[in-house]
Amino acid sequence: MTTPATAPAFAFRPGERAALDERLREHAELLRQLIIAIDGPAASGKSTTARAVAARLGLFHLDTGAMYRALTLLAERQGIGAGDEPALVRLAAAHTIALEPGAAAARVLVDGEDVSTAIRTPEVTAAVSEVASHPEVRRAMVRQQRALGAHGGVILDGRDIGTVVFPDASVKVFLVADVATRAARRQAEDAARGVRHDLAALSADLERRDRADSTRSASPLEQAPDAVRLDTSRLQPADQVDAVLALAVRQVRNERLAPSGTIAAGRVRVLEVDAEASAQPGYRPFHSFVYWFCHTAIRVLARLVFGLRIHFHPAARLRGSVLVAANHISGLDPPLVGSCVPFETWFLAKVELFKNPALGALIHRFNGIPIRRGTADFETLDRAVEELRKTHNVLMFPEGTRHKPGTLGDPRWGFGYVALAAGRPIVPLFVRGTRDGRPRGLRREPMEVWIGPPFRLEAVETADHAAYKEAARLAMDRIAAMMLRSAAARPLRGLELPGAWAGAPTERTESNAGPVTA
Ligand code: C5P
Repeated sequence: MTTPATAPAFAFRPGERAALDERLREHAELLRQLIIAIDGPAASGKSTTARAVAARLGLFHLDTGAMYRALTLLAERQGIGAGDEPALVRLAAAHTIALEPGAAAARVLVDGEDVSTAIRTPEVTAAVSEVASHPEVRRAMVRQQRALGAHGGVILDGRDIGTVVFPDASVKVFLVADVATRAARRQAEDAARGVRHDLAALSADLERRDRADSTRSASPLEQAPDAVRLDTSRLQPADQVDAVLALAVRQVRNERLAPSGTIAAGRVRVLEVDAEASAQPGYRPFHSFVYWFCHTAIRVLARLVFGLRIHFHPAARLRGSVLVAANHISGLDPPLVGSCVPFETWFLAKVELFKNPALGALIHRFNGIPIRRGTADFETLDRAVEELRKTHNVLMFPEGTRHKPGTLGDPRWGFGYVALAAGRPIVPLFVRGTRDGRPRGLRREPMEVWIGPPFRLEAVETADHAAYKEAARLAMDRIAAMMLRSAAARPLRGLELPGAWAGAPTERTESNAGPVTA
């Protein structure tokens, strides 16, 4: 394993402990909402560290290795081989594996039975890597892990947390230690649980498992590019814990103080859109008369009732699918924004909206694709990519959720993922005034939609997490430029753009917004 060049440098100095304690108190509330990912090879100190960090910050600790071990134990008891993927998947579906915070370590329960000790036997340890190597087994486990962590407030430890389970985790740590240290630690840890091991055998077993875990094809053990590597060979557990706490504090402070200034630049290229090259055979702006009719009716109504004005850049009309990136301030945005672009769009809507059968059917009729928010919902994001490739236009709100009018939120990486994976032109869109329900003449805020010229984004090297974030940021930059332009023409209540956006508005406005037609 080599250290990726992008891993941020980090060193925690023990003398800073008092300052750290103070920051932990100051930011306690935000810290309680984090998702922290701890990955690393066997016995590198992940669970010990994660458990202590969880206790300090009030997070739920999810030991994902224990989940794979519990499944291995079940398989062993039922005589299912570690190589029998379909039977293992059925087994995972038929039983409940739960983790419960305990006094010292979390208790692992299988159908209510405490198996915390039983999952640490040499037999389970010997078989677990093979059980965990099957893609379908991992899929089932990852689904559970994402569900448990979806709302934040969790620290997970494992092999693929920062790379696969929560690639968007706020804090990612990759723990390593030399094999002798790890073997000694595992021996002491398991002895405390009443399980005895020979040191030489333990070392050999750790090396074997590291090899198996790092070389398997499904989500191998590897450091995420944006994870911080921490060698714990010569660290005391308390220092390890403080190092992770300090990282968490740094993250929260960065997010709070400079919401737009924390991403590495230079991983994504912005390209012009060539109208000819971006044409797709078989592209049609509309696919259904009903859609076209409602789309037109909403726009005409909004003009009559709310005085809607559309500033449309003619270059946004292409003969191929585009990804529309819009800011989001109101529940009205999806239908309104959808009715202002001169084509039919598919859009992502939070899955909760589909719970109401009538609303769900309506959203579905108008091309809504359900998305689980707060999780790495790759299936839905891939679906959006698929629609774009099928020549369908897709509308996304990179901020992920609604924000106060006059502000823009930190964009989510999911938008960047779709943008880079699909490679289609992106059309930036700024909307204002959808929170003001008053009819024209009585309105305090004009209703406007600005549709900018399209651009393309391309990863310079690999399209990784940092690139996704940067891509999302670049799209928000274009939206911010239109927002400032709109605010210059008609004052925007509550206008407050953070850091980078507020910094150089004129240049962006000139170069990005282009000619506009009302
Ligand atoms: O962390 P622990 O040693 O208890 O994990 C047991 C095994 O489970 C690992 O060797 C690895 O094969 C598997 N595992 C995994 N992905 C995770 C956690 C554990 O493949 N996220």
